[in-house]
Formats: sequence, C-alpha cells, structure tokens
Amino acid sequence: MTCELRTLLFTEQPVRAQLTQLTQSWRRIIENHDYPSSIQTMLGELVAASLVLSASLKFNGSLILQIKGDGPVKLVVAECNSELGIRATAMFDKTTPISPDADFKALVNESGKGRFVIILDPKDRLPGQQPYQGIIEITGNSIAQAIEGYMAQSEQLQTRLWLQADSNTAAGLLLQQMPSTGGIVSAQTAQPESTTIPESLENAWDRLLMLSDTLKQQELLENTSDVIAKRLFWQEPHETLAVRQPSFHCTCSREKVARMLKSLGEQEINEAIVEQTVLSVNCDYCNSKYEFDAVDCAALFMATLSNNTSDSTSKDNLH
Ligand SMILES: [Zn+2]
Repeated sequence: MTCELRTLLFTEQPVRAQLTQLTQSWRRIIENHDYPSSIQTMLGELVAASLVLSASLKFNGSLILQIKGDGPVKLVVAECNSELGIRATAMFDKTTPISPDADFKALVNESGKGRFVIILDPKDRLPGQQPYQGIIEITGNSIAQAIEGYMAQSEQLQTRLWLQADSNTAAGLLLQQMPSTGGIVSAQTAQPESTTIPESLENAWDRLLMLSDTLKQQELLENTSDVIAKRLFWQEPHETLAVRQPSFHCTCSREKVARMLKSLGEQEINEAIVEQTVLSVNCDYCNSKYEFDAVDCAALFMATLSNNTSDSTSKDNLH
C-alpha cells in the first residue's frame, strides 16, 4: 500500500523530477464506479498527471485537469489541491459498449473536437475572481501527449510525462527543465547569467529522457518511487527534495448540494418533490448520497426569504 509523491532535483543540471505511485487512494477513487477498463486507465493517468503537475506548479489552490470528450467519454476530471487531496471522475455514454482496447482518440477525440482543459483555482479566491482556465485542442493519443501539447503551447519549460494505471495503481513520472537563471540550480552552474540551456545540459536532458523511456509499464506500476528513482537515475547526481503523501479527498457537502438545488428554482424543486417524494443527489466523485425530503426542500427557500429581507416582521413569521 503506497501513496506517495517524490520530488527530485538533479544537482548538475536544471531539471526536476516528480514521481508518484498511488494504490489505496486510487482504489478509493474507482470503487463503486464500475468504469470500463479503458476509461479507468485514462482516469488513473489523469490522476497521476494532476499530482506530478501540481507538485511542479507550487500553486496554492486546486489544479483541475479536464478532458472534454467528443466520443463515448464526455468528461474526465482529476482534481488535486495544495495538500495533495485528490478526487476524480469520468462521465461516459453507458448505452454504448466500450472496448477494453479502445485507445485515447477513440474514447475522447473521435472527430478531433475533444478539448483539454487546465484550471487553477486559488485557495483564497476573492469574490468575483474567476479561476484561471486554459483550453486547447487535444493533440496526441494519450493523456501524457495531450498534457505535453498543452505545456509546449503555454510555457517555455520543457516537460515530459510518463503515466500508467491499472485497477490497483496509478503512477507517473514528470521531468521538467527549470529556468537556467535564478534558483538553486543556476547558482551551482557555471553560467548563471545564461538564459539559454547550454549544449552540455541539452545532452543531459536528452540522457534523462532516454533513461525514463526505458521504463516499462509494469515497472512504473509495481515499484515505489524510491525504487524507480534509484533504478533510472542512479548515475545522475540528484537529491530528494520531498516525499509527500497524497490522499483521497472529496469537497462535496450537503450545503453545496442545497445551493445547487436552490439554484434550480422553487417551482422546479416543488414539482420534482411531488413526483419523487425524496430528491436524491449522488456525488459523482465519492458516491456520497444526499437526500432532501419535502421539508428539507421547503427549508431551502425559506432560508432565501429570511436572508433576503431586512423586514423583522417577515423574519418573525418564518421562525
Ligand atoms: Zn463527494
């Protein structure tokens, strides 16, 4: 049982690595969901990607990765907060049989209209402030290639990802070149003023890519990040900057569901409660079930009235 995220810094070149391996948190994400295996693999890769990217961003808030599909899979979401709390879900057409061998393109980019979305939602978002959102067309035929495509378009830092998932484990490796000015590494290199990567460092980057490309699927899934780091990079001087423990964390709550129901309007809710007696809302991420009966539903709109009025007489009438 492992859930870890390891950050490595190569001491003789401006490159950082993030390695993650998740077992029980990953199994918590997929339990009770019954995902077809090809969708499950894609979801696990997106979860691993959200962790390694989140660690490389140093952003205080939640990183949300979304694949908006145009095939049988409509949406795949993985979310990771600054404390490495993760949750994820996939929505797909349950009436179409999905082959276990269906590839990424067939699942989410059938007619080339799939989109990859990255959202950065700051922890202390000010009222009215919108989260940062970047959307691009999906390129490549895997989660890793789609993300690399995004990184190539949006920033200068070269980034490569290796992602794997099965029903037990989700795992990933990220390599990222760091700016060659400023920071710890450039202080140790001979040319701190340089803004371009010297040729010898380009070679070093290529060597790290080559080493990482030797990773076999089962190798990444079956070994802890410590073993992978030693196996791949034993000849590349590096230090471990951090080893942290991600865990499953869902942000749903009865209050949030109440707000969502309220936003549908009193008339719609009244009609629904007459039809169904109890309104039941399931969280797509953790499967928690929230139930609202007629009294709960009536309370939703009474609260609105009391919040929206400054007239003490009507408040008294409500309580
Ligand atoms: Zn939930």
